Amino acid sequence: MTNALNLPRPAWMSEELVLLEEQTRRFLAAEIVPHLDRWHEDHFYPRDVWNKTAKAGLLCASMPEEYGGAGGTFAHDAVIDREYSLAGFDAFGAPLHSGIVAPYILHYGTEEQKRRWLPRLASGEMVGAIAMSEPGTGSDLQAVRTTAKRSGNGYLLNGSKTFITNGQHADLIIVVAKTDPKQGAKGVSLMVVETGDAPGFRRGRKLKKLGLDSADTSELFFEDVPLPAEALLGIEEGQGFYQLMKELPQERLIVAINAIAMIERALGLTIDYVKQRQAFGKKIIDFQNTQFVLAECKSEATAAKVFLDHCIERHVKGELDTVTASMAKYLHSELLGRITDRCLQLFGGYGYMDEYPISRLYRDARVLRIYAGTNEIMKLLIARSL
Ligand SMILES: Cc1cc2nc3c(=O)[nH]c(=O)nc-3n(C[C@H](O)[C@H](O)[C@H](O)COP(=O)(O)OP(=O)(O)OC[C@H]3O[C@@H](n4cnc5c(N)ncnc54)[C@H](O)[C@@H]3O)c2cc1C
Repeated sequence: MTNALNLPRPAWMSEELVLLEEQTRRFLAAEIVPHLDRWHEDHFYPRDVWNKTAKAGLLCASMPEEYGGAGGTFAHDAVIDREYSLAGFDAFGAPLHSGIVAPYILHYGTEEQKRRWLPRLASGEMVGAIAMSEPGTGSDLQAVRTTAKRSGNGYLLNGSKTFITNGQHADLIIVVAKTDPKQGAKGVSLMVVETGDAPGFRRGRKLKKLGLDSADTSELFFEDVPLPAEALLGIEEGQGFYQLMKELPQERLIVAINAIAMIERALGLTIDYVKQRQAFGKKIIDFQNTQFVLAECKSEATAAKVFLDHCIERHVKGELDTVTASMAKYLHSELLGRITDRCLQLFGGYGYMDEYPISRLYRDARVLRIYAGTNEIMKLLIARSL
């Protein structure tokens, strides 16, 4: 596939990261890409994908070695996440597992919690999920109705969650719940559920979706699930909302990374296609309209990637603020929507056919404007800085 943007390596990309990029690309080409069509048809990818990815050293790359990780930084996760998208495996829940679930435990867990869970997330023994959204609330997280009420030495968890990435595979779920239902944000805590044989825990449907067909996005139900006191992430109740607010910028940056890689893939596939398809005795690339469309897309994508690299660099230094992360998520997911639409058009009828990757990309792209905080919520956050 044509490397559509062909930018020089960003400053944050060290020699070690270049090797990681090559290693990830080789692993995906050998172990993942040959199966993607089948998983897409099955609407499911198998559990052993997690074990294989862990064995290749690609889970929890930014977690410290003492907790089973690779001892890298966010830049390591960024390199790996980009490769999943370039390979067309956007349905994989690993960016969430490594870049969202594991950091909550690393940043807010007690020493005992970190030792208990992080090595198992890094080895693929456990698949992680985070359950914030509920049937009645998504954007307004203070309004969650799931409760974790004190019971004996521990808690009883009750509630239902929906749209949860990794919902069928997950062995460890961070559940956003109210430990004090009378309070708003101050009543929210993060409860870590080991699904194992947890009584009262039930997985609901794997939801049928517009895109990301093989992803196991699911409903989850908790009915009087008994939890030990140590299931509370950290040591103090009522910290959940603040923990979420601190971690969400990274989640937004991950979506922006995903968006740019999907744009690169869309442009690469399209450039290859228009160079071989013919109409009216010419190649499609020879029409000025095609050249202008792709020139516009390439210009916008190049500017967006430079902004993304700026954000990654700042985040690795611990300097990325919520507003800038929200801008990257908003801008890049909107651009992805526009570019996949324009690229698909250049494929004509083939662009509408499921067997053409551009068709899947177009469908997969839509959710980036919705999850990790909708783009309307991003604009609210950005507007607060005006
Ligand atoms: C494929 C997929 C995977 C997902 N994975 C996860 C996951 O792993 N974990 C998880 O917890 N959730 C997950 N989600 C849920 C996702 O985060 C929510 O769908 C999203 O946050 C929006 O919540 P909602 O669907 O309840 O929409 P609502 O909050 O009901 O919003 C509906 C509309 O109203 C707008 N709106 C809401 N509030 C405002 C406001 N104040 N101002 C202006 N407009 C507003 C929204 O932008 C949206 O357009 C996933 C969703 C999908 C589709």
